[in-house]
Amino acid sequence: MIYDAAIIGAGPAGLLCARNAARRGLRVALIDSHENPGVKLAIAGGGKGNISNRILAENRYVGEDTGILRSALKSFSCDDALELMRELGLPWEERDFGQIFGLKSAAIMAERLAIQCDDAGVDFYLGSTAKSISLPDTGEAEVGPAFGRNGRREHFTLFAGQAKVTARQLVVAAGSPACPQLGANDQLLNLAASWGHKVVPFRPVLVPLVMPEHWPLAGLEGISLNVRIGLKSGSELRWPDPEGIRSLLFTHRGVSGPAVLVASCWWKPGMELVIDFLPELPILELLNEKESGKLIVRNLLARRLPARLADALCPEDLARRKVAELGKKDRLRLADIVHRFTVLPAGTEGMRRAEAAAGGIALASLSRRLESRHVPGLFFCGEITDITGLLGGYNIHWAFASGAMVAKGLKKGE
Ligand SMILES: Cc1cc2nc3c(=O)[nH]c(=O)nc-3n(C[C@H](O)[C@H](O)[C@H](O)COP(=O)(O)OP(=O)(O)OC[C@H]3O[C@@H](n4cnc5c(N)ncnc54)[C@H](O)[C@@H]3O)c2cc1C
Repeated sequence: MIYDAAIIGAGPAGLLCARNAARRGLRVALIDSHENPGVKLAIAGGGKGNISNRILAENRYVGEDTGILRSALKSFSCDDALELMRELGLPWEERDFGQIFGLKSAAIMAERLAIQCDDAGVDFYLGSTAKSISLPDTGEAEVGPAFGRNGRREHFTLFAGQAKVTARQLVVAAGSPACPQLGANDQLLNLAASWGHKVVPFRPVLVPLVMPEHWPLAGLEGISLNVRIGLKSGSELRWPDPEGIRSLLFTHRGVSGPAVLVASCWWKPGMELVIDFLPELPILELLNEKESGKLIVRNLLARRLPARLADALCPEDLARRKVAELGKKDRLRLADIVHRFTVLPAGTEGMRRAEAAAGGIALASLSRRLESRHVPGLFFCGEITDITGLLGGYNIHWAFASGAMVAKGLKKGE
């Protein structure tokens, strides 16, 4: 049996790709190391799955070259994701920031997608890590259907457990190493690099940041508030989050919460974090208000910020002074502390706590249909590509959109 396509990875990208290709009449093999398809999908969004977003745009993604998103998000829109939910018989709700969440367990979504694959005729190879993957024209010559008359390998081959799988096309939908406790790793990215593809090394994103042990805001764990986060590299400061304001949570080791998880998508070692603790209220205006004049500085801050944070932020020499007594220099100093609190993170909580990994197969190595420019018939989709979404359902959406895109580009054999 020669499959039209072998797909490595039964996450959202591989499942949708397999289902759609099989519905087009292609013979498809779907291989996954886990016994259950969609293991990461099942735990996404706290188990409900934040599967898409109303606001789909290129600036909700990071990657060296995200240009492909314009057409990909047009050909698989939020409405298409909602149509998929309808077809799977799954109710959903829209939350803040346009986030679409399932109302039932995301594990059911994975199960139902797998059932649709089965109904479309996909052959599953579950509980089998794809090994000894060979490309056409490589490997030892041997007699058999995978080899042409001249002894050259015409097809892709791999082993899924004891089974040899032979296919005209290969789709790598193997995800990223984020959450290695689920067995996630970067082996297929390394293999793709050895096949000549440009790869951007994976790094953990959507991940809490760790602060130096004795940073000025240590000991505030549990406090949460809305902030705006900027990133500073040398003298360049930018505020990259298109949503602007989101919540931050102080943790035992540093900071987390949506604002930080999103900032981690751009953060790299050596970059400073700049936090605006009062993003909607310029402190200079507050200091100038008539009724502020008689307050002491610490109490003015404590009216607008959690008290323990106000205590930690307020410089000792200003804390007990009346606002009316502050000169211009002190007012500017206070504004700087509140709106431009700057700290150099020690690092991230790493892949174990990351919801995604940025990096992957560089889009420069792929065509507009996500086919390899080096190996015809080889495709990549989902998180293994160098396209990573911000918080809000963008990663699962990309997995679906790119899986659907590859399914369209796969060719049916005679
Ligand atoms: C805790 C957590 C919560 C998340 N929540 C959300 C959310 O709410 N919304 C959102 O958009 N994103 C979320 N994400 C990210 C999202 O789950 C992933 O981006 C998405 O699952 C990627 O889909 P994928 O199909 O590309 O890869 P994956 O879902 O990672 O699937 C890849 C599959 O490939 C298999 N595989 C890898 N190598 C091999 C091999 N050699 N042989 C056989 N099989 C192999 C793996 O076993 C895996 O099942 C979350 C991630 C985590 C860790």
